[in-house]
Amino acid sequence: MGTKRSLNDHELESSAKKTAGHWSKGLLSSMEDPELKVEEDDTTVVIKDKYPKAEVHYLILPKEDISDMSKLQKRHLPLLKNMFAIGERIMEENPNREIRLGFHAVASMSRLHMHVISQDFNSKCLKTKRHWNSFTSSYFVPASSIIAELEKNGCIKRMASKTAESLLATPLKCHKCSLEPKTMPQLKTHLMTHFKKSGCT
Ligand code: AMP
Ligand code: ZN
Repeated sequence: MGTKRSLNDHELESSAKKTAGHWSKGLLSSMEDPELKVEEDDTTVVIKDKYPKAEVHYLILPKEDISDMSKLQKRHLPLLKNMFAIGERIMEENPNREIRLGFHAVASMSRLHMHVISQDFNSKCLKTKRHWNSFTSSYFVPASSIIAELEKNGCIKRMASKTAESLLATPLKCHKCSLEPKTMPQLKTHLMTHFKKSGCT
């Protein structure tokens, strides 16, 4: 008897695009997709995250072919600051929501991308402990820290894979209180208590 499980983002992406190259390059085609592209300027493109993990979830990407944070140099500071300013503007446009700007310490998708994500985490696409921990632990590196590190050191130090893996494997914990739910469904039910009462996400 096989165990049924839902496809993860990468499997969904690869089954949808069998002929369009490796799933890790999917952001490149999404940057050209009018359904996903929200805005662009000379140096950046903003897209909707195709598998959003919260009610507001955008990705801000450079037009320059920068694969990931390890390729960042001091000369990229104006670009990063522009990405940050766009993220801050999106935050201002959503005054009733708590929104964070940041990067996954070890990104799975190629082309550098800054997440703009609301803290409700109210989404069917948020399914696993790894998803949760990737946005609520120090695996999610604030954009301001990346800019500060680049300003100071001229490069971004890669997180050790052991550290990254242990962050993703940490037991579930609510990002708003001390509750440690046993399962994702329990966590999701609990999240409603934080966000439905005030109507603010
Ligand atoms: P990460 O590389 O870990 O920072 O996360 C990649 C993000 O890209 C995830 O939030 C996915 O939901 C999202 N994603 C995956 N494939 C696509 C795609 N083809 N277009 C837009 N977003 C995507
Ligand atoms: Zn809580």
